Amino acid sequence: MYRVAGRIAWAVLLVGGVEGCMNGSAETPTKKSGDVFAADREDAVKPVDFDARRAYSYLEELCKIGPRISGSEGMKKQQQMLEKHFKEQGGKIDWQRFTATVKSDPRRQQVPMANLIVSWYPDRMRRVILCSHYDTRPLADQESDARNWRKPFLGANDGGSGVALLMELAHHMNDLKLNVGVDFVFFDGEEYVFEERDEYFFGSKHFGRTYRRMRDRPFYGAAILLDMVAGKKPHFPIDPYSWERAPDLVRAVWSIAHELECSAFDANAMGRAMQDDHVPLNQNGIPAIDIIDAGYPHWHKLSDTPANCSGTSMEQVAKVLSVWLQRVK
Ligand SMILES: [Zn+2]
Repeated sequence: MYRVAGRIAWAVLLVGGVEGCMNGSAETPTKKSGDVFAADREDAVKPVDFDARRAYSYLEELCKIGPRISGSEGMKKQQQMLEKHFKEQGGKIDWQRFTATVKSDPRRQQVPMANLIVSWYPDRMRRVILCSHYDTRPLADQESDARNWRKPFLGANDGGSGVALLMELAHHMNDLKLNVGVDFVFFDGEEYVFEERDEYFFGSKHFGRTYRRMRDRPFYGAAILLDMVAGKKPHFPIDPYSWERAPDLVRAVWSIAHELECSAFDANAMGRAMQDDHVPLNQNGIPAIDIIDAGYPHWHKLSDTPANCSGTSMEQVAKVLSVWLQRVK
């Protein structure tokens, strides 16, 4: 993700009010709510028995590979590991391959990339998405000394946490009572950027465009993006863009978190405006929201390592997701 410049951020913040999210009374009348899969509060469903330690061990395993930069050997190793893991858990594997070109670097043209789609109940046409990027940033550009930018950057939380969480959640997918099909989607090329003018979100843009052009496409009623969900003190305010584009989905997720007393979710706070993989999904007809801890202190630093992450943070998020999944009609 990257932070939108302050002036634009305020413009976005003015679109939807925090209070409206809290008490449901301040709908912005100009917005069309496209998120038709709003979860029903009355269903008594239990969260999954998520194993926080195993999720953390997956995070360690991913980081042992080293950096997982798009087009790199590390990414290839990760792809092999994920294919094996999700097959073993009974998911159906699809690779969506494409290439991407970096504007600032003539040596990085047509770089091979791939989104990974792991499907549960693949025959169902009504579906939802849980997604995350799985590439790590090539430069640790929040390090104050630029000489450190090119040192190996593991991206434990930023690039690893969504993957580790979904690896653990896969163990529980067959225990959930689901009315819809579910796709775990791992986006490549979220931040294959070397200079600020470079393009972000190659994978989610490709996924969105492909979906829009598909003939017999499934109906994706909702997508939840996970980005930096394993920090030790996570804070998930409401993302302004998510609130603008998919308010029912925001309301459903943050109210489930409130029910479950998952205190990292903060419905009283509106986050700063972010660009992230949920934007191309919304632009291509899939209502999508972002659960993101944008205040993670190790963001784009060499210290973004498993030691600064926590399995119980992933557990909080997964519990909320698991209740939401079971309530989707
Ligand atoms: Zn990042």
